[in-house]
Amino acid sequence: MNIETLRRPLTRLTKASIDLLFPPRCVICNRYGEFICELCADLLPRALPPRCTVCWEPAVSTNYCLRCHREPPAFTAARSSFVYQDTARAIVHAFKYSYVSSLARPMAGLMVEALTENFPHTAVLVPVPLSTRRERVRGYNQAKLLARELGEITGYPLAERALARVRSTLPQVRQDAVSRRTNMHGAFKAREEILPAGASVVLIDDVITSGATIEACTQAFREIGISDVFALAFARED
Ligand SMILES: [Zn+2]
Ligand SMILES: [Zn+2]
Repeated sequence: MNIETLRRPLTRLTKASIDLLFPPRCVICNRYGEFICELCADLLPRALPPRCTVCWEPAVSTNYCLRCHREPPAFTAARSSFVYQDTARAIVHAFKYSYVSSLARPMAGLMVEALTENFPHTAVLVPVPLSTRRERVRGYNQAKLLARELGEITGYPLAERALARVRSTLPQVRQDAVSRRTNMHGAFKAREEILPAGASVVLIDDVITSGATIEACTQAFREIGISDVFALAFARED
């Protein structure tokens, strides 16, 4: 066999299973035993109320932030377990950029409460899709892994192919809110044949940054007649 044809699948396999080969270690404190040890899990920066009941932005005295009050978003409600900073940020980075795919299980475990306490048990879990190119480079879509684990732990139905990314987008890091929205507009398409009529959906992602991505996903669901769209992330940028 040609070595080139042999090497390709091996690289992919190595990436996806690199962390299974070694004894698990906490990605924060390096202690052997678990990928996120109990102590580090307890110390994660939780996204606690008071927050806007719609977008989960920190709010001072009311249930709505000014933005949702003036111009309500298309999605019904978004929640995140943690704030995207310190150790929560380190976990997301290890999961996303260091290929520690085994973090999916403990991360999903830490999202269960936010899912079951906020969203109906009949809602279908749908991961935010990556572009196929990015998924190929990383070897997996981190949102898909989280959605699968959440479905397994909680019994919520899962439709991991209900959304497709139809257009690649620019990285959102250095863009303002308006260009983020323009950049994401029309980036997704919902597959009508996969979701039951009248379904409500919980979008799953690792991080919610500006809300532009979940807004664009919601637009795609609206186009096929689904209007009850929730979103859940491991962490959000406050
Ligand atoms: Zn630890
Ligand atoms: Zn809000």
